[in-house]
Amino acid sequence: DADIAMYRAKQQGKGIMLFDAHMHQELVESLSLEMDLREVLERDGLLLFYQPIVSVAEERLEGFEALVRWNHPLRGMIPPDRFIPLAEETGLIIDLGKWVISEACRSLKLWQEIYPKAAQLTMNVNVSIRQFATPGLVEHISEVLQLNKLAPACLKIEVTESVIMQDKAHVVGELNRLRALGVQIAIDDFGTGYSSLSYLQNMPIDHLKIDRSFISGFQESQENDQIVRSIISLARSLGLSVIAEGVETRGQLEKLRALQCDKAQGFMFSRPVDEKKAREIIGTSQLSI
Ligand code: C2E
Ligand code: MG
Ligand code: MG
Ligand code: MG
Repeated sequence: DADIAMYRAKQQGKGIMLFDAHMHQELVESLSLEMDLREVLERDGLLLFYQPIVSVAEERLEGFEALVRWNHPLRGMIPPDRFIPLAEETGLIIDLGKWVISEACRSLKLWQEIYPKAAQLTMNVNVSIRQFATPGLVEHISEVLQLNKLAPACLKIEVTESVIMQDKAHVVGELNRLRALGVQIAIDDFGTGYSSLSYLQNMPIDHLKIDRSFISGFQESQENDQIVRSIISLARSLGLSVIAEGVETRGQLEKLRALQCDKAQGFMFSRPVDEKKAREIIGTSQLSI
């Protein structure tokens, strides 16, 4: 019995050691990733990609969503879902977020200068909770708009429901200040969060982006059709425009057209592309006025 107990203890010990080793490895990994992220930010080495947003009715180009990319020398492309949370935890999101806003506005200004027809093009930028929690976000956005002589209505700030709900009074206050500048607000990944639809009523928002999961579910279930239909009619009644995320097939687009969704974004039109490629897309696109 003593042997068995000893054996068990050893096994348990091993288990704990393995667990520890794993934890340790994860910690080292995220620390090294944090150091690398700090370094890449300092030397201005992140990339900003742009994904077209298109009107559903006429398939005209309306604008782009800016999406950050990190091409790591050893690890290759690291997706934002991997490093944005890290940037949030470490506070690096403040510098990262400022860079994204500046870079996105700089590109938009460049395109508007090259193509007079691009005067109405818009730029969507994602902003996360820590950026709202830190003073200076609205001031930074206002400065960048002035510096680039951009019409504030060209800029759309994307926030998720969870960002709003984490510190509702404060975030709503900041959204109101942004709207007072003329900047527009979009709710990102709509439908995945609190889904208490009534809270939308008094929100300072202009657009709803329907989460990709509902669009990709189009083929599979009538239920998803119903959800999308309800979101669109809700948006209508609140005077908001609706953008469908993750549109990959013509079939999905046709359904959205039948439901009178305003705009769409997804691989069917284009993956996120670099600045040069975005410029080419603008040059060859029909643009909405
Ligand atoms: P998001 O804001 O919801 O962005 C849309 C994501 O869906 C992007 O992923 C885009 O590449 C992807 N996507 C677009 N169309 C399709 C499609 O047809 N099919 C599929 N399967 N995917 C599609 P990405 O670029 O990997 O970004 C992931 C998330 O990372 C974003 O989700 C956003 O929450 C966050 N993120 C990206 N850039 C930034 C940034 O500059 N700042 C902040 N705070 N977050 C960012
Ligand atoms: Mg987004
Ligand atoms: Mg989204
Ligand atoms: Mg998302």
